Order: sequence, then structure tokens, then C-alpha cells
Amino acid sequence: MATIIYDADVNAELIRQKRIAIIGYGSQGHAHALNLRDSGCDVLIGLPETSKSRIRASKDGWTPVLPAEAAVQADVIMLLVPDQYQGQVYQESIKEHLTAGKLLLVAHGFSLQYHQIEPPDTVDVAMVAPNGPGAQLRYMYSLGKGIPALWTICQDVTGQARTLTLSYAHALGCTRVGVIQTTLSEETETDLFAEQVVLCGGLTSLIRTAFETLVEAGYQPEVAYTCCLQEVKLIADLLYQGGIHFMHNSISDTAEYGDYMTGPRIIDEHTRENMRTALHAIQNGSFARQWITENQAGRPALEAMRRQDANHAIEEIGKRMRQM
Ligand code: NAD
Ligand code: MG
Ligand code: MG
Ligand code: MG
Ligand code: MG
Ligand code: MG
Repeated sequence: MATIIYDADVNAELIRQKRIAIIGYGSQGHAHALNLRDSGCDVLIGLPETSKSRIRASKDGWTPVLPAEAAVQADVIMLLVPDQYQGQVYQESIKEHLTAGKLLLVAHGFSLQYHQIEPPDTVDVAMVAPNGPGAQLRYMYSLGKGIPALWTICQDVTGQARTLTLSYAHALGCTRVGVIQTTLSEETETDLFAEQVVLCGGLTSLIRTAFETLVEAGYQPEVAYTCCLQEVKLIADLLYQGGIHFMHNSISDTAEYGDYMTGPRIIDEHTRENMRTALHAIQNGSFARQWITENQAGRPALEAMRRQDANHAIEEIGKRMRQM
């Protein structure tokens, strides 16, 4: 059973005695910075001179400094730049200023797990990964609530890494609803697996293949779009609210019977084998190596797939249907 930690188990004060650098001001960065500020913390925003996020940060009342300057001044450094750039940002702006006893934080394990960052053994290193996008992290905090997070301690040289990391999670509002202890590899590998196999890759391939099958058989694309894509939201809401059995209770008996009869024939043993292959590529680092190389090459494959994605017939239909 997972260990879950709540407000009452945490030293809320410790993080307020530190200066925190938030590097990056995107989805996660803005939410961490604002929640920490509202929790009474001393926060600095680190952004390159040319970053577009500087405008947003200024609007929110910050005076951003360069990432290296933020790293110099801070006791706690949270890296919230895109995972594929973290190695570079670390090398260029953080490494030199990560002096003994500081705490380096990440919100996803990718760069540490795949050795894009190799911190010295004189600092604390930990992860606090909120289970949701930054907008939700901020919104729930502002309601006096929170969203859960995963956390782990990778390196504890000061003896206070755990207390300080949990204090950070408290300031984010996450311990209001509970934070779950994990390991770097568990968080990284399950996150990548879920987004590839279910949430993003699995779902979009399922929807598109079903849409194509209906259209090929002569059904109207508008009708195919509605039933294969838009109605996903209704089912996802039921799954979120009560899980699979609850969803099954809420749909028609016909839909439920069709689910039991046909679902396992669509997602079959062949699919399971492919899932295992995808998991192995994540575990042995080959997916990460490929993604890092792709970035070093200027992302030609990503750009080509993006163009293909945007030009798929389902997009044109979708544009019209969403206007209804
Ligand atoms: P984002 O793309 O929304 O924001 C990235 C920020 O970094 C932007 O402000 C950008 O201007 C800045 N940036 C880009 N290059 C930079 C550089 N070279 N130097 C300094 N700043 C730079 O990214 P995000 O989604 O907030 O992701 C940040 C981290 O949070 C990642 O590790 C990600 O895995 C993790 N995370 C994201 C989510 C999510 O739902 N978005 C959830 C949990 C964890
Ligand atoms: Mg994107
Ligand atoms: Mg995640
Ligand atoms: Mg992810
Ligand atoms: Mg029913
Ligand atoms: Mg129906």
C-alpha cells in the first residue's frame, strides 16, 4: 500500500525560511510560483532574457531574473522548463551555482532518470510531481483545496531533504489532499507509459481508427466524429467520477453488453504484447534516447508528424462540428 502524507504530517514552516528559485514560468512554473507566494514563501523567477513567459510573469507581479542569477540566490531550485531542455539549462545556468546543501527539485523524473542531469553528491535532490496541469494546481489551491502529487527523495545529504520537500508540497497545496511517495523510476516510467499507451497515444489511435472505419464503410463523417470522439468526454467524466464499474452502471445495458463482448476483442493479447514492448522501451531508456536525439537534430520527425496530425480528415470535420 502506498504511503500518503497530509497537512498534519508536515512541517509547513521550513520552506518559508528558504529562498526558492522557480526556473521556467509555463504551465507548472506559474502555478508553483503563485501557490508558493500565497503560502508566504520567498520566490524568485528565473527566465532567459528572450523568454515569452516574461510577459506573463510580469503581469503576475514578478520581476524575473536570469536562471543563473535565480540559482545563485536560491536555497531551493525547482526546474520547470520542458523536460527535453532541462539538461541544457542545468549545464548552462544551474550546475555552477548548485553549491553544497542546496535542494534541487524537479516535477517529473525524466531528466534525472535518463541522466540528462547528474547532480553533485553534495546537494539534496527530490521530486514533487503534481498529478495535473498547472492551471488545475493553481485553481484548486485558490479554492482552498489542492490536487495530489507524487514525491520522492533522490539524494539526502543535509538530513532535511524529506522535511523540506514535503514542506514544499504543503506550500503547493498538495498535502491538503495527500501526496504519495514513489520512486524516480516509478514516476517516470508510469507517466510515460500512461501517456503513450492510454491517455494520448492509445486514445487518439483508437478514435482515429474507429473514425476511419466508419467513414470507409460509408457513414457520414459528422456522425462518426460525434460518436467516436466527442462522446469520449461523457464516458471519461463517468470513469473519473466512479471508475469502470460505476460507468458500466450508468450506460445502457446494450452499451454495457457490447463493452464486455467487443472490448477484449479490440484490445487483445496482441495489444498487450505491444504494450509490454512500449514499456520495455521506456524502461531500458531507448524511448528517451530517441527523444533526446530527435531534439538534438532539431525535431524533424516531430514536425513531420505534427503536420500529418493537423492535416488528418478528422480535424476538418472537428472544426465544423465544434462550431455547432
Ligand atoms: P511549459 O512548456 O508549460 O513551460 C516551460 C517554461 O520553461 C516556459 O516558461 C518556458 O518559457 C521556459 N523555458 C523554456 N526553455 C527554457 C530555457 N532554456 N531556460 C529557461 N526557461 C525556459 O512546461 P510545463 O508543462 O510547465 O513542464 C515543466 C515541468 O513540469 C516538466 O518537467 C513537466 O514534465 C512537469 N510537469 C508538467 C505537468 C503538466 O501538466 N504540464 C504536470 C506535472 C509535471
Ligand atoms: Mg505542446
Ligand atoms: Mg504525470
Ligand atoms: Mg508526462
Ligand atoms: Mg446500465
Ligand atoms: Mg450511444
